[in-house]
Amino acid sequence: MTISTINPATGELLKTFTPLSNEEISAKIHLAQQAFETYRHTNFQQRSHLLESCADILKQGKADFAKLMTLEMGKTYKSAVAEVEKCLLVCNYYAENGAEFLSDKTVQTDASQSFVRYQPLGIILAVMPWNFPFWQVFRFAAPALMAGNVALLKHASNVPQCALAIEEIFHKAGFANGIFQTLLIGANQVSPLIADQRVKAATLTGSEPAGISLAATSGMHIKKTVLELGGSDPFIVLSSANLKAAAVTGTTSRMLNNGQSCIAAKRFIVIDSIADEFEKLLIEEFQALKIGDPMLPETDIGPLATNKILEDIDQKVQKAINAGAKLVLGGKPIQNNSGNYYPPTLIVDILPENPVAREEFFGPVGMLFRVPDIDTAIQLANDTPFGLGASAWTNDPQEQQYLINEIEAGAVFINGIVKSDPRMPFGGVKRSGYGRELSIQGIHEFVNVKTIWVK
Ligand code: NDP
Repeated sequence: MTISTINPATGELLKTFTPLSNEEISAKIHLAQQAFETYRHTNFQQRSHLLESCADILKQGKADFAKLMTLEMGKTYKSAVAEVEKCLLVCNYYAENGAEFLSDKTVQTDASQSFVRYQPLGIILAVMPWNFPFWQVFRFAAPALMAGNVALLKHASNVPQCALAIEEIFHKAGFANGIFQTLLIGANQVSPLIADQRVKAATLTGSEPAGISLAATSGMHIKKTVLELGGSDPFIVLSSANLKAAAVTGTTSRMLNNGQSCIAAKRFIVIDSIADEFEKLLIEEFQALKIGDPMLPETDIGPLATNKILEDIDQKVQKAINAGAKLVLGGKPIQNNSGNYYPPTLIVDILPENPVAREEFFGPVGMLFRVPDIDTAIQLANDTPFGLGASAWTNDPQEQQYLINEIEAGAVFINGIVKSDPRMPFGGVKRSGYGRELSIQGIHEFVNVKTIWVK
């Protein structure tokens, strides 16, 4: 994949970049290593100030950063603005709480003094996706830098200008040269980086194949990894649920980021007795969405990020139909312009043997399944290789507890949309990955948890 900006709303190639050579990469690792030797001695207060400066820069430059995201990957401008706001939130969150999360923790033992100390590891490599080009990076970087690590970012090849803008933000905030660097490189240049003994750990948000590749190489070199991979999140609706609220939230969740979110509601699993009514409401909500120029405030759904994603979605919908599923809305790319537009789509009557039943649609396509009871709903919810998030709708407290306990996912939201929040851990189980980002758990991923014992 070439490193370039192609406007997904028009198909226009706007800018290309030459990947760094091996010598250039090595020089950047060297700079990072030097920066770490100084930065690791800074105190929490100094790091907090730097993160607060980042938050200020994000606030001031909100409109420009949002425009850049829309230009490079097609999310609506209004959602891009919200993304920048979330980034400044996570900077402020770790600026405020990082010191407490990383303070020495006393443990009573046979020693006169024993405690746990959290120390930085060094250079952390972050391989990031295009779908939330700012948020995914800040969600990793704020805790990693607060802990005293330094970062190398290999961003997705279709968002190079976002990657450079983020590097600039850290620089302007006062982080010394080398503490946060963007490497404009291809995916094939990642393995040698992991093998470099100066790089201590890696995190990847993206697809399963990318995660497997990064984890395999890291395993060979005994390096810690965090993986945030795909999801095929269930959205369960039981008979006592507020159906209108569920349909509105389900639509927001499925269509978030033009349908390209790992924690979107991808499989609507609905009790038979209310399924017709819920399907009707869902179709109404899907139909009400405005598709068009992502820069316009009235647009709800912009183009898919790349032409390849559009082709994949189209093929997958055809595959579902060929295997017996029924198309009730959408189902064909929009042909009236050169952008990657695909309409809100709903497919039903998906048999268990349909190959798409356990797959992930990374675009505005919902699947609706009918089930007779809560046990079948849970069984179907869990019948996927993924386990990222789940949303379940019921007003029965016993059913709520049952769902919370039985669903195999990193997060269960009752009567609400699955979302990330700096205050709560985020991550998956099964093939959705491992490790956690955000909250106290997120800042403890890339530290040496050092046991101290003094006689
Ligand atoms: P990719 O995995 O292709 O890309 C993500 C990043 O990994 C990019 O920087 C990419 O670089 C890099 N990459 C790709 N292959 C390799 C490799 N073999 N070794 C090292 N790095 C690699 O994902 P997509 O862009 O296709 O994103 C969609 C997928 O990611 C979906 O499955 C989605 O669910 C998942 N995802 C998960 C999220 C989560 O939080 N759990 C969030 C967002 C997406 P390059 O661009 O140069 O190819």
